[in-house]
Amino acid sequence: MTNCIFCKIIKGEIPTEFLYQDEKIVAFRDIKPSAPVHILIVPKKHIEKLQTVSDNEKDLLGQMLLVAQKIAESEKIAKSGYKVCINCGEEVGQIVPHLHIHLLGGWETEGRCSC
Ligand code: 5GP
Ligand code: ZN
Repeated sequence: MTNCIFCKIIKGEIPTEFLYQDEKIVAFRDIKPSAPVHILIVPKKHIEKLQTVSDNEKDLLGQMLLVAQKIAESEKIAKSGYKVCINCGEEVGQIVPHLHIHLLGGWETEGRCSC
């Protein structure tokens, strides 16, 4: 989608370092992190939000979660625990209308976000 910031990142129009990339999914660090480790896992296909995912995209959702699992390992936050979060709609704080999973972790002690 032309005006979507994540589609621009995926197309390389906004220079962004990918921590992970395959034919369907990319992952990159959030520009305004809410945690010491804050990574976004994003499908290359423009899907607006979880509400608009169709049944035949269930494998994609599973793959996105497994990418989160693998990045948590490589970022060394698997043992200490982490959160995965999807904001489903602008009404609850989804700013970018392109489906994405937030992977959050790396807190030393207190200070975890409450999502
Ligand atoms: P949402 O609120 O839509 O669930 O989360 C969107 C996230 O995308 C926010 O945490 C925001 O900081 C991040 N973000 C917005 N624009 C950019 C960008 O251009 N680059 C990166 N890396 N992250 C972005
Ligand atoms: Zn998009």
